[in-house]
Amino acid sequence: MKKEAIEALKELLIQPKKIAIIPHRSPDGDAMGSTLALYHFLLKWGHTPTVISPNDFPGFLAWMPASDKVMVYENNKQDCTVVLEQAELIFILDFNALHRTGEMEQVLSKLTVHFAMIDHHQAPDDFASFMYSDTSIGSTCEMIYNFIEFLDKKEWIDTTIATCLYTGITTDSGSFRFPSTTSRTHRIVADLIDRGINNSYIHRELFDNNSFQSLQLLGRALQNMRVYQEYKIAFTHLSQKELDLFEYQKGDTEGIVNYGLSIKGIHLAVIFIEHNDENIVKISFRSQGSFDVNQLARTHFHGGGHINAAGGKSYESLNKTIKKFELLIPTLIILS
Ligand code: 5GP
Ligand code: MN
Repeated sequence: MKKEAIEALKELLIQPKKIAIIPHRSPDGDAMGSTLALYHFLLKWGHTPTVISPNDFPGFLAWMPASDKVMVYENNKQDCTVVLEQAELIFILDFNALHRTGEMEQVLSKLTVHFAMIDHHQAPDDFASFMYSDTSIGSTCEMIYNFIEFLDKKEWIDTTIATCLYTGITTDSGSFRFPSTTSRTHRIVADLIDRGINNSYIHRELFDNNSFQSLQLLGRALQNMRVYQEYKIAFTHLSQKELDLFEYQKGDTEGIVNYGLSIKGIHLAVIFIEHNDENIVKISFRSQGSFDVNQLARTHFHGGGHINAAGGKSYESLNKTIKKFELLIPTLIILS
């Protein structure tokens, strides 16, 4: 983050302010972890922060400290709009383009207030007054830790803030597996443990809270998987019917895409999930090595993200979307 931006933000934060903090739509562990960590930090500073999520967050994050204070735009547009209009500063965390807030974009794009962006995705839009964008960092939570350090307030990181940060660092690093995990990541995590977090408890809350139905849904996705070994590609799909059959709850499909990548020799894994309520097929891409799924998602599936993890959507039927992808397969040259 540029020195001038840090100084300007420090200056702004001297006086108590009403501050809105926004994660992307369908927030994941990093989006919730970073927004809640910043929420607790700003509260401690004497500000009046409010986290406004564009839509509901998944149940496996409902244990997070102050998750019950998160306002959900889709469920309460009027009150959320008032908070946004009264905000004197807005942080947007873990995303870098306003369309990633869905319908909330209509409200946000009309505001004249300063935006501060902290994010690690590729190709940020140019609308924030203060920008901390770094695609080399594995999680926005790691960036919030850095941000607090830039503000010379590291001693304020208490167990609650540390718990939120640990959550996002863990989920976005695939539990410290992905290449973005550095010695710095581990040093930060060591510091968070020293600040009293119960790391084992956090892992249990995040990963050992499956319902039997959600495991059966995973089983169905594994059975639906198609493997193109010669192209190093595995993909799977879940229809709305299958989601209904296993009483799908938000969050139940999190991480399923990674199973494709766990097959020996597979370097690109994809999952297509039909969501009739939104009339879209939601797509997740994961790769290992140099194959750029951000580019694939951006070029063909209205999405984006990182080189090794990206998302997108299709407005066509599940079948048509899969056919479109299958036609693309021979053009996808996966070297490493
Ligand atoms: P997921 O597959 O878990 O939804 O997303 C993988 C990564 O890509 C996450 O970092 C997520 O924020 C990002 N991502 C997901 N969907 C989109 C999208 O539509 N546009 C952009 N730019 N990034 C996305
Ligand atoms: Mn993230």
